[in-house]
Amino acid sequence: MIVAIDGPSGAGKSTVAKAVAKELGFSCLDTGAMYRSIAWRALQDGVALDDEEGLGAIARTYDIAFGHVEGDPVPRRVFIGDDEVTDAIRTAEIDRAVSPVSAVPAVRAALLDQQRRIGNAGNYVVEGRDIGTVVFPDAAVKVFLTASDEERAHRRVRQNVDRGIGSIDYEEVLADLRRRDEADASRETAPLRAAEDAVQMDSTGRYIEEVIEDICALAREAQS
Ligand code: C5P
Repeated sequence: MIVAIDGPSGAGKSTVAKAVAKELGFSCLDTGAMYRSIAWRALQDGVALDDEEGLGAIARTYDIAFGHVEGDPVPRRVFIGDDEVTDAIRTAEIDRAVSPVSAVPAVRAALLDQQRRIGNAGNYVVEGRDIGTVVFPDAAVKVFLTASDEERAHRRVRQNVDRGIGSIDYEEVLADLRRRDEADASRETAPLRAAEDAVQMDSTGRYIEEVIEDICALAREAQS
């Protein structure tokens, strides 16, 4: 069974997806980490962000894999080929590089295959931008999670402070979120939008635990 969680940057998808997966005993797939990994490889190899062929080749060549930290059932480590990129994909540089990379149709096609292969292997909570619309259009549960721009920026700053990586400048983070949302929503291939049958949830001013419980309730209902 697939629980699809889509929405703009910083809406709380990752936190919510991991907690829902833990509670339901499902695995969890962070598709944003896959696009970030391709962007990282491109920067390492000096592949230009407008070189569609070069970016597509990277996405077709490398497998992206997820690994566990001991004692945590939800995967938190990310690998592309033989390289671990868990922290390297969370920098401001990757935040800037990832939108042009994710707009390339050949990149999306290659990652779509990988995402379906992973998700079809079991019960998964899958988070991203196009999960309910393109990757798993038959998902049993589809949630489109949003929050106000300001709240999303505040949360992202707190997250970056906790992790010790990424920008901690509120205005910079807010501008980056808006820029990425605009790029993600306006691209031609698999733009960010809610599936028609998605349940819309606005997490602004709500305890994240309530959102998690609401999604778990939807999943349990779909299971019964
Ligand atoms: O979720 P996260 O912020 O890590 O995603 C990084 C970027 O990857 C997004 O801004 C978007 O450009 C891209 N993405 C995508 N489709 C997905 C997941 C992420 O285009 N399913």
